[in-house]
Amino acid sequence: MAQVIYDHVTKRFDGVTAVNDLNLDIADGEFLVLVGPSGCGKTTALRCLAGLEEVTSGDIIIGDRVVTHVPPKDRDIAMVFQNYALYPHMTVRDNMAFGLKLRGTPKEEIERRVKNVAEILGIDTLLDRKPKQLSGGQRQRVALGRAIVREPQVFLMDEPLSNLDAKLRVQTRAEIIKLQQRLGTTTVYVTHDQVEAMTMGHRIAVMNAGVLQQLDTPQNLYDRPANLFVATFIGSPAMNVFPAHVTTTPEGLQVVAEDLRLTLPAERGARLREWDGKSVLLGIRPEHFHEVNEADAAPDGRHVRLPVELVEPLGAETLLHLRGPEGRTLVARVEPEFQPDPGDVVTLTVDVDQIHAFDPDSQATLT
Ligand code: ATP
Repeated sequence: MAQVIYDHVTKRFDGVTAVNDLNLDIADGEFLVLVGPSGCGKTTALRCLAGLEEVTSGDIIIGDRVVTHVPPKDRDIAMVFQNYALYPHMTVRDNMAFGLKLRGTPKEEIERRVKNVAEILGIDTLLDRKPKQLSGGQRQRVALGRAIVREPQVFLMDEPLSNLDAKLRVQTRAEIIKLQQRLGTTTVYVTHDQVEAMTMGHRIAVMNAGVLQQLDTPQNLYDRPANLFVATFIGSPAMNVFPAHVTTTPEGLQVVAEDLRLTLPAERGARLREWDGKSVLLGIRPEHFHEVNEADAAPDGRHVRLPVELVEPLGAETLLHLRGPEGRTLVARVEPEFQPDPGDVVTLTVDVDQIHAFDPDSQATLT
């Protein structure tokens, strides 16, 4: 069993709390992604697991062993870095074999494992080359190969795709997912890219300022973000957020911001009842606006009429920048055929059962 547990892990560097009381329970075979903006502490959290940083307090458990004070080489982990960290003077074969040689693995066993993994990764024809004779994508494969041949209990990956160009990044991303499925090795993967996190992780741990914000499946993070930070970090373009007033009407609970007036469905409204008469932050994702025929747009609390500022046709979809309440820009993601002109006033339907509201002070999700 190679479960990984962070038990109240805190890491301070003089004056800076990089990781603040982190608790994570990562299952055997799970692909867990640590994601968050630059400086949120995700790399430090990974380095604590690797043993490259000594934790200030708390414990780290790998499998059934508390490894908090165990040196990196005895933790049975393998790490893949953003800059590949290959030995430049060694061939691909020797780079891949290095860790096994250090551990005294028999020569035939090393040869068998290197050949096998090189075939899996499609680098078996490159074994006699040096790193400088390889492309960035090939180097990253060698770095992955070097981790895989060691057959560790846990893979740790720190932004392994960020030095690759966009196309190669998407391709290698899919390869890592397939590889992890095939090997079933517990993997902790650090990235600042929410798309990478959403596509790769079985579960995602979202961090901000050293603090875990939410640990959940990609779909739950998207559908039920715990707070405003997670709501705006996950999803692209980001969720639109603006202040709105909560008010009770005969039709049900409404959220109102200038001319924009939306009626919440009964269940969502019920959760906001105690906010009647107060202000909340309203959140609407761009994809929850839809084009509607003017004739169908009954005044039923599900439509908005807003002026268009900018139209971005992206081929598969169109992004509309709309002038929202208090002059704020709202982004709507609509069908590619819908391309109004700047200055037009458009009517859109809102998926009112997908609306979110946040406490303006604590920023916790209200609904
Ligand atoms: P990035 O994506 O930019 O690498 P990150 O989320 O991985 O960011 P960390 O590198 O873990 O963030 O850094 C978290 C905080 O800890 C930052 O404020 C950083 O400046 C600080 N920090 C990290 N390493 C050290 C160190 N060795 N000494 C002092 N402060 C550090």
